[in-house]
Order: sequence, then C-alpha cells, then structure tokens
Amino acid sequence: MRTLRTIAQVRAALVTPRRAGRSIGLVPTMGALHEGHLSLIRRARERCDLVVMSLFVNPTQFNERADLDGYPRDEVADAALAAAAGVDLLFAPAPGEVYPAGFATTVSVGEITEKLEGAYRGRAHFDGVATVVTKLLNIVGPDVAYFGQKDAQQAAVIRRLARDLDIPVRIETCPTVRDPDGLALSSRNARLSAGERERATALHRALTAIQRAVDAGERDPETACAIGRAELAGAQIELEYLELVSDDTFTPVLRIEDGTLAVLAARVGATRLIDNQPLSTARTTPSAAHPASPDAVRCGQRAAAGSINRGR
Ligand code: AMP
Repeated sequence: MRTLRTIAQVRAALVTPRRAGRSIGLVPTMGALHEGHLSLIRRARERCDLVVMSLFVNPTQFNERADLDGYPRDEVADAALAAAAGVDLLFAPAPGEVYPAGFATTVSVGEITEKLEGAYRGRAHFDGVATVVTKLLNIVGPDVAYFGQKDAQQAAVIRRLARDLDIPVRIETCPTVRDPDGLALSSRNARLSAGERERATALHRALTAIQRAVDAGERDPETACAIGRAELAGAQIELEYLELVSDDTFTPVLRIEDGTLAVLAARVGATRLIDNQPLSTARTTPSAAHPASPDAVRCGQRAAAGSINRGR
C-alpha cells in the first residue's frame, strides 16, 4: 500500500491503471478504523481491481468544535488495518491540501439534507459532507464508491448529489456492522463509559422491537415508533428523534412498507449516536397480519425459506 498526500500524487498514480481499464473503488473514511470501515474495504477489494481509501477528518462537517478536536486520530494504526484489508492507495491529505487558501465553494444538496441529521446537526454538516465527497469523487474518479448503511441519510445525500451532478460513479451502500450485543460500530463508541456502553444497546433493541412489530403485522408508523420508544424508556438515553421514513427521500411514511427505514439519534451521556434499521415486511407471519390474505401467506412462505436480507 502506498500513502499519498497530494491530489497530484493521486491523479498521477491512477493514470496507468485507468488507461489499462482497471476498475477503481473508493472508500472514504475519517479514520479510527473499525470492522465497519473494514467491511467496506473488503467489499471494494472483492469487486474492484484497485482500492483507494481516503483518510481525512473533514473539518467542515463537524458542527461542534469539541467533536472535531476530540475525534480519534491514529494514522499509523489505520494504515496498518487498511493495508491488511487490501487497500492499494491510501490518500491522507492535510486540511490545507483539501481546502487551500481561497477555497470558496460549497456543494449543498436540497430537501433531504433539511431533515433529521440535517435538522439536528445544522445545514453545515451535510454541506461539509457533500463538498468533501464531491471533491474526493473528482480527485479519484472511482467506478464505485462505498458507503455504510450506518449513515443511511449520508449515503442518500451522496446518491442524490451523484445523480444531480452527473458524476459517473456507482454508489454502493454496505450493511451496518454491529457488536454481538447489537450496538452499531462507530468511532464514537470509544467515548462511552462502561455504563453508557451498556445503556447504548437500547438503541438497537428499540429498532429490533420495531422490526418485530412489523413482523407481527404492524403497519402504522406511530404505533411502531411508540413500541421503539418504550424500549428506550428507562435506558437514561436522551432521544433526539425516532422516525419511520422513506429510505430515498427521508420523509416520514404514512404506512410501513419495504423501503421504510427506522432511524434514530440519541445522546448517551455526552456522546451522540445514530442508528437505523431498514424494515422488511417480508417476515410477517400469516396469522399476525391478515389471516385470509394471500399476500400474507406468500410473505410467510418467503420468510420460511430464509431468504430475507434485512440489510444488516
Ligand atoms: P466515517 O469514518 O465515520 O466517516 O465512516 C466512513 C464510512 O464507514 C462511512 O461510509 C460510514 O457509513 C461507514 N461506517 C461507519 N460505521 C459503520 C458500521 N458500523 N458499519 C458499516 N459501515 C460503517
């Protein structure tokens, strides 16, 4: 694996492989690598001839100075993990390389960025993400760029900007990697005390309780959310939002169907965590939904075949 610091070095390194028709995969990260990041790298390794990983703690997407300052940074450890997982080129620029003096452009995606994460973290967050990802896509010119389902709204924002700006890249979203107790892996988990770490498992319990309700035939978003909130009650968690939304537009759904996403954000102590669950209606048991409905029977049979990918 080669570590590159400048945009010119990245462009130069990719000339020959591109000319030879080799496919290029990009995995953008902010470092502090864990199994979630590594799953993206491995996917890119399987599917692409050349794997580029960017490691850049993007200052413009942080809405809290303390969050930026306290963000874990260990390039040596990250480089070792990236190399072992199959990265060919590590692009680790200094902030001044990405945002040189005089930098004055912001990529701002409308609508989807105004909700949920956009509303709670402020407009600048997704502007920062959209701007840096647009730059990375322009610098690397990958065939495929890999993002985690863990940050579902971010992935949707990036799909939107690639479509809107005609960037010739396929955006692939990979399933959320979790600890055995269900907590979604995140660089921020390291900030949790032992007690907070334990309480944080309520997030995933709330999401699975919603999926269980859907399995039992529930289709009303408000009832399903109430079931999720009940799971969070008593966990000493400050819930910011728990909503059922369309996985494309992130607008609230009126009825739960495939393509509905349960999304939540909560503070556990001083640490803000997000998680989500793509909801599947395919497991609904015939008796729980509409006993006489042929649809329900069909879904029940599909579930029995065990072929349901619930996106985790
Ligand atoms: P970050 O370094 O936090 O910007 O994350 C880099 C990429 O890794 C993003 O596309 C994230 O969505 C993805 N990612 C972070 N955590 C996970 C996880 N637990 N499972 C899968 N992907 C993840």
